[in-house]
Amino acid sequence: MTAATKTATALSLESVTLTFPDGDRRLTALDEVSLAVAPGELVAVVGPSGSGKSSLLAVASVLLRPDAGRVVLAGRDTAGMPDRERTRLRREQVGIVFQQSNLLPSLTAVEQLLAVEHLRGGSVRGARARAEELLESVGLGEAGRRRRPHRLSGGERQRVNIARALFTGPSVLLVDEPTSALDHERGEQVVELLAGVTRRHRTATVLVTHDRGLLGRADRVLTMRDGRLG
Ligand code: ADP
Ligand code: MG
Repeated sequence: MTAATKTATALSLESVTLTFPDGDRRLTALDEVSLAVAPGELVAVVGPSGSGKSSLLAVASVLLRPDAGRVVLAGRDTAGMPDRERTRLRREQVGIVFQQSNLLPSLTAVEQLLAVEHLRGGSVRGARARAEELLESVGLGEAGRRRRPHRLSGGERQRVNIARALFTGPSVLLVDEPTSALDHERGEQVVELLAGVTRRHRTATVLVTHDRGLLGRADRVLTMRDGRLG
């Protein structure tokens, strides 16, 4: 993905409502949520547990279809899009980082990234230099890049996750509570890194956290409460 194809608003949610079945009623997880994020912008979303933060990311990543409203990703309106196309769009345009590092235990840091290329049917040989470079850029040195997850620290594992999320050159980066398993200092470093990555890779980044202490690096801070974003 080249910078030229990144549109002014990389991610846009327009009046999105998402409900889940809840006994014989429905629970409203997102209540007419609107949000637009530009390339190179870091938006933080805070809010209590159960307020809808992860639901917001699930809809933004076009993993879940909203009941109402529109999600526009990398200039593409996903509302009427068939599932196959939505999946492809997600793979190409969305990088996702979760709270728990979901790295494969048997692979080294470099191989975690190469596995992405392999799954896409790309050339692993051609991808190696790029994988090494990305890991270097998130602060993982030569030795760390050869280690499997159990020999990396929690902070280093999150760095690998971030590098892996960036590997396809996504226009949108969605990050769900990336610091909850880390101490405050390591958490700050990860947020610092995400801010830098957002600038350098021009991603539209949404960072969900319940830790208000980490918000200094965000361009905007929004609060989620009972499925409403304000
Ligand atoms: P947060 O990430 O802020 O903790 P969530 O988005 O996970 O909030 O949840 C918002 C609301 O939606 C909660 O009431 C939660 O119980 C409900 N919810 C989330 N996912 C599901 C699901 N798959 N099925 C049913 N209810 C869900
Ligand atoms: Mg959550």
